[in-house]
Amino acid sequence: GENRETVKIVVVGHVDHGKSTVIGRLLYDTNSLPEGAIDRVKRISKEKGKPFEYAYLLDAFEEEQKQGITIDTTQLQFFTAKRDYVIIDAPGHKEFLKNMISGAASAEAALLIIDANEGIKEQSKRHGYILSLLGIQKVYVIVNKMDLLAYSEEKFIQIKGEFNEFLNTLQVTPLDYIPISAFYGENIAKKSEEMPWYKGKPILEAIDDIPKDKELSGKPLRFPIQDVYKFDARRIIVGRIEAGILKEGDEIHITPGNKTTRVKTVEFWANKDTGTVVSAGQSVGITVEDEFFNKRGEIISHLEAVPVVSNRFRANVFWMGKNDLVTKKKYKIKLATAEVEAEIKSILKVIDASTLSGDEKSQKVRINDVAEIIVETKEPVAFDEFKDSKATGRFVIVDGYDVAGGGIISRAEEAVLTKG
Ligand code: GDP
Repeated sequence: GENRETVKIVVVGHVDHGKSTVIGRLLYDTNSLPEGAIDRVKRISKEKGKPFEYAYLLDAFEEEQKQGITIDTTQLQFFTAKRDYVIIDAPGHKEFLKNMISGAASAEAALLIIDANEGIKEQSKRHGYILSLLGIQKVYVIVNKMDLLAYSEEKFIQIKGEFNEFLNTLQVTPLDYIPISAFYGENIAKKSEEMPWYKGKPILEAIDDIPKDKELSGKPLRFPIQDVYKFDARRIIVGRIEAGILKEGDEIHITPGNKTTRVKTVEFWANKDTGTVVSAGQSVGITVEDEFFNKRGEIISHLEAVPVVSNRFRANVFWMGKNDLVTKKKYKIKLATAEVEAEIKSILKVIDASTLSGDEKSQKVRINDVAEIIVETKEPVAFDEFKDSKATGRFVIVDGYDVAGGGIISRAEEAVLTKG
């Protein structure tokens, strides 16, 4: 419907712990399946000589897609009375990480599935770690297959304790732990009678409690300067408003140049917009009272919420380059509209994206690896931590002429003066 909120969720977990079954159940229990899907699942289950498998719902979708019918497997949707959900399907770790870090798909929340019977696997921990790397803090840990353990509260408490201990080391506090049986639909749409000891909500009610990310226009102003044009005697600063609202007469601050001035006029030309107020998503030109020398790459904000300015930050990168990412080499970083020379000061940890195994000693990042690194730019740049502002907290790394990696800024580091 109109004005309904959409929340994007990713479902992760060790293989066979029940991701597809949970997704299938969520779609089924919310009546979000296209007509005929259940019949197809029955047929696929029969062909494979299995009882009815909710997990095959995803296969049924894929089949439909191959036939050119409209469903997009990567954008499964379901609806509750409160709002809409999009499940970001992750065909593999690699694609998921790449899409998440590049911003092609950005999940706000996650369901991390653990098989109660098998318990916590190395992969469950790595997925927890990856979620923290991606800045996804809104996580429900779903303890699945409780039916195999006669719905034992003791087992649930044990898994919860053990996993919490691990998550604490990442400074992640899940929203809650939910014991379920995806197969039998326990604690999915309604509270399970098999687990009266569980006092929390079933999944479909619990996710409605996930606080929605703030609308971009409600966030602090971020207006990266794309260009400055000279028209007659006037200088017009152009760019796209990435967050917040900008009005004629506003006092604004420009970083890293560290100048304060006032907006004289708001100008439009390439589109039909008019007015004196612009907000996130709009491309615009402005003139300002003091004609400083402003340049591409600087960020305009309001004084009360300026971006960070530094030449060092900690980041999580996904590397796609043919040559390894290494220290002591010159790269170019593109961050919002800024382009600046940079070096990798240190490589803190490298994770192989296809196996998710980690290495704390590696001094190079290979193709398809994820790594935690410290970046040092030649000149100070204006940016934000990714969790505060996606558009100004994300960057790409250019190696020679190729975009070879993407990263998100996890923490600003104190500026270090390398020259003079
Ligand atoms: P995925 O690899 O994480 O997507 O796991 P699937 O959803 O494909 O599930 C793997 C297997 O576990 C399938 O045979 C499912 O039927 C089974 N399974 C999933 N959820 C449950 C559950 O709640 N109880 C039981 N007994 N089996 C389940």
